[in-house]
Amino acid sequence: MTDTLAPPAAPRWLPRFPPGPADVAGLLTAAGGLPAVMDRALGAYLGLALGDALGATVEFMTPREITLRFGVHDRIQGGGWLRLKSGQVTDDTTMSLALGEAICQCTDATSHDLLAVADAFVAWWRARPVDCGNTCRRGILRYRHDGTLAGPPSESDGGNGAAMRVLPAALATLGDPAGFAALALGQARITHHHPLSDSATLQLGALVQAAVLGVPRAGLRQRIDAWIVQRPAFRFDPYPGRASGYIVDTVQTVLHAFTRHDCFADAVVDAVNRGEDADTTGALVGMLAGACCGASRLPRDWLARLQAGTRQAVCDQASALVAHALQ
Ligand SMILES: [Mg+2]
Repeated sequence: MTDTLAPPAAPRWLPRFPPGPADVAGLLTAAGGLPAVMDRALGAYLGLALGDALGATVEFMTPREITLRFGVHDRIQGGGWLRLKSGQVTDDTTMSLALGEAICQCTDATSHDLLAVADAFVAWWRARPVDCGNTCRRGILRYRHDGTLAGPPSESDGGNGAAMRVLPAALATLGDPAGFAALALGQARITHHHPLSDSATLQLGALVQAAVLGVPRAGLRQRIDAWIVQRPAFRFDPYPGRASGYIVDTVQTVLHAFTRHDCFADAVVDAVNRGEDADTTGALVGMLAGACCGASRLPRDWLARLQAGTRQAVCDQASALVAHALQ
């Protein structure tokens, strides 16, 4: 075994750099005020859950199979290979909630506790979630076995399981780019250690942070284009046409749908009707598009179909995470 395959030393406590009171005031003023920030943060989290619930029905189907069965799949109805109840979400949302709960429970205002995050993933897995990706399971079992907070870099870690749950890390570190990078990567490496997973996790998280803080769509597009120049593997125009759980396919589908549609529902429907890992592509498009439109402009009929417990948990946690960032 070479040195490059040795597990990296991951500190338990990740430093946090909360902005001072003046910075909080400036941040909120530039973002249009606290109610606007809260509306967009909640829009991102509810959007994640809505996209997950809509997409799960057609996960692992091909676009042709979806067309034959549904025409256009645009109604939250459960079912799918997981035989979900109507409005039920999957690991994308529940693992995010587990991460967010661990973040919110850390009372040390100067740092984030990565060990608490790993313990939360173990507790989530032991509670028998409706599904769990292979790489996530492997990482959680490794931590349970040897207590390490990161595995060695691996070619097989290029799935979307770390990026899909980045939202709570992004909300908890609004206005703190260094804190965000440390927390986003720290939580990611517990299960996924791959440069493309790392890059996508950071970029998707930074994008949703910018949207929550009021950066308009044109500004988000500039950031996306600048990132693609640095990471051409993720180029999505022309759209390559795959929507699998490989992080490159996922990101291309998410950014293609997000940049094509200003309307939340149109963007999510576009992504999930491409099938494959439709719950995760739906969740991530929903996160970005929901942050842009805010919770107040999400489709009412979709929100009504989301399971009430999920809706409540997401609302409670979105508020707590923003409060965590601003404390
Ligand atoms: Mg899922």
